[in-house]
Amino acid sequence: MNQPGKPFLIAGPCSAESPAQLLHTAKGIAANYPNAIFRAGVWKPRTRPGSFEGVGEEALVWLNEMKAQTGLRFAVEVATPLHVELALKHKVDMMWIGARTVVNPFSVQELAQALNGVKQVPVLIKNPIHPDVNLWIGAIERILNTGINDVAAVHRGFHQYGHSQFRNDPAWEIPIQLKSAMPDLPLFCDPSHIAGNRTLLAFIAQRAMDLDMDGLMIETHFMPDLALSDAKQQITPETLKELLNGLRIGQSENEIDDHSDELKLLRNNIDAIDDELIQLFAKRIGFSEQIGKYKQENNVTILQIRRWKKTLRSQIKNGTALGLNENFVKAIYQLIHDESITVQSQWQSIKTSVKETTKK
Ligand code: PEP
Ligand code: MN
Repeated sequence: MNQPGKPFLIAGPCSAESPAQLLHTAKGIAANYPNAIFRAGVWKPRTRPGSFEGVGEEALVWLNEMKAQTGLRFAVEVATPLHVELALKHKVDMMWIGARTVVNPFSVQELAQALNGVKQVPVLIKNPIHPDVNLWIGAIERILNTGINDVAAVHRGFHQYGHSQFRNDPAWEIPIQLKSAMPDLPLFCDPSHIAGNRTLLAFIAQRAMDLDMDGLMIETHFMPDLALSDAKQQITPETLKELLNGLRIGQSENEIDDHSDELKLLRNNIDAIDDELIQLFAKRIGFSEQIGKYKQENNVTILQIRRWKKTLRSQIKNGTALGLNENFVKAIYQLIHDESITVQSQWQSIKTSVKETTKK
């Protein structure tokens, strides 16, 4: 993905709708970002039948006309071997595999077979709909095994049950896990499908930059309100420019001066605190084990709900008085308490099985 600067930009409508829609949108993008990749869905995976499902192969002809007039290279989504065949026939510059396809290793393997030997066309792999980093890694490995030179991952959020401010839960820990497992793989973010609306786009794009992601895929349409799919989340090329101009882009780990004393000193402090925290956690778990033993011997249930609520309340009070975020304190204490319960019940089941064995 040889595009200068950061973030690597992929922009364009959710779906290709007409030659004029592609051209107007592309001209707006090319005016500011001539190196961007223009995206447009040609075959649309829709949740319910009857929604706009894309115009198919004809749109690939339109995209080539758009490219001839604006110089923008383009990407489409492929979900079946036939899509791959047609995309290659119409000389796409990049393909992406969507979230609904990545969930199914059979489908990804079929795509990998269709891509075997292609090598020169970059492929983006969106995260699967559910937050399973191994399923995502598996799809990436299947595509890498075809010998394709250029592969990148796209974080587009995860399905969530119930209401939230996001259309798809960003679950930032999952792309962080992917980055740890595959540090050399370029990682992009698709704020459009995470947000599902226009207001949260900049916030999500900024978070992606803060997490040192390499690129952004942003749905852009010259008349977003009239879009045939995902109208609520698309923005105009002008808004795209404002959004990108507003991003703070820090230096990556490999770009910063290794000898920055200030950063080194601050990190030394963090490292020392982390060492202390781990020792304290271990000490605390030691007491949980002793409590487990006491409860077993005195026939007391492991969960004591009033005691737990009191602990949580008082730590939230302490934490917030020190300026900590209430949700952060709650989340930490829930983890600690879960572990404490696990340790206590493990202790009890060990003792019970020892008793049973000695009885025999
Ligand atoms: C899309 O990019 O238009 C799309 C369908 O995305 P996803 O696979 O992330 O839902
Ligand atoms: Mn879309």
